[in-house]
Amino acid sequence: MNMSIETSTTFTVMHADTLPEIFSGLKGPEEGGCYLYGRHFNPTVYVLGKQIAALEGAEIGYCTASGMGAISSTIMQLCNKDDHIVASNTVYGGTFALLNDYLTAKAGIQTTFADTSDLERLAEAFTPRTKLLFVESIANPTLRVADIPRLADLAHAHGAKLVVDNTFSPMILSPLQLGADIVVHSLTKFMNGASDYIGGAICGSQEFITELMDLHFGSLMLLGPTMDPRAAFDISMRLPHLGLRMVEHGKRALEYSERLTAAGLPVIYPGLPDHPDHELFDRLHRPEFGYGGLLCLDLGTRAQAEEFMEILQNKDRFGFMAVSLGYFDTLMSCPGSTTSSELTEDEQRAAGIMPGLVRMSIGYTGSLEQRWTQLENALETLNLIAAGRE
Ligand code: PLP
Repeated sequence: MNMSIETSTTFTVMHADTLPEIFSGLKGPEEGGCYLYGRHFNPTVYVLGKQIAALEGAEIGYCTASGMGAISSTIMQLCNKDDHIVASNTVYGGTFALLNDYLTAKAGIQTTFADTSDLERLAEAFTPRTKLLFVESIANPTLRVADIPRLADLAHAHGAKLVVDNTFSPMILSPLQLGADIVVHSLTKFMNGASDYIGGAICGSQEFITELMDLHFGSLMLLGPTMDPRAAFDISMRLPHLGLRMVEHGKRALEYSERLTAAGLPVIYPGLPDHPDHELFDRLHRPEFGYGGLLCLDLGTRAQAEEFMEILQNKDRFGFMAVSLGYFDTLMSCPGSTTSSELTEDEQRAAGIMPGLVRMSIGYTGSLEQRWTQLENALETLNLIAAGRE
């Protein structure tokens, strides 16, 4: 029932003239040829790619060693030297640094960052050299939601591709069905769900994935962000319960968000009616999978946020202070000083990343009520809600 793990990094042929035919693109595994070399193509990694493509409703997909491997390979395939990118001003800090600093210095690829919820101003950011619009389906860490159909129309009107990072909302949002051209993932997060593998995936058209794997001009082949087949196998074994996990992450995140809001705390969660993109989310998402496992609390100052997390971890045992997300236990971090610290204070402010923002990836271990008691205790210790519950 389960796939085999193909560990060979190289593959033999029966006739000497087959290898040159593979190199010249005449014979792949599906044209009577053979696999060539593990960095180029591994059947186990390919099967995981196909499974993720099926989840995303894509023609095809392939996997990479990390989410950043997926993002950087996609961008390098779409852009040449001196090309231009338009990107959301609220993206994961590593992506921001790649676009803002690294690609500019290394390849002269310029990025204009903009608020992607203001379509009129966003349109002004495009230039004749813009090759792609990059957004996160649910933005890290502000939890703003991308209006994928309208962003796709805008990108296409300017001859650009819409690339969506769907790391925060697998199963919940299907960007390709909504008009995006390419979807990238960090499999490290919800997809794998156990915080024991780093991985990434790219889903799109057969033409684009074939281009990425081209022996002479493909980013996957030439930059070498290769996923290990053993990792591909293990991640593949966790995909069947991804849907169940997303439902439970989302159920608890919604419940805690509602209770925290009722207690008068400033919560950011797309499932709350006062979230600026709540109605948009309702139009785009698959309701049976909820609103996602991440919520944010704005506690005003970094000191308050840090004290809150320390109490939650060291006294009440609600979760762990750690970056990353999508784990079975709750993970908490303060993005302003960690995962978004690549942005300057001004850039953070413009993106809505406040210094006291706590990002919580809500886990599903323990019971909902037991965990809520832990969370409530921490809030009481800090006098953030009144003590003396019934
Ligand atoms: N995309 C998002 C939204 C992320 O949050 C992250 C990492 O935190 C990445 C991409 C990068 O993924 P990886 O760490 O697997 O390279």
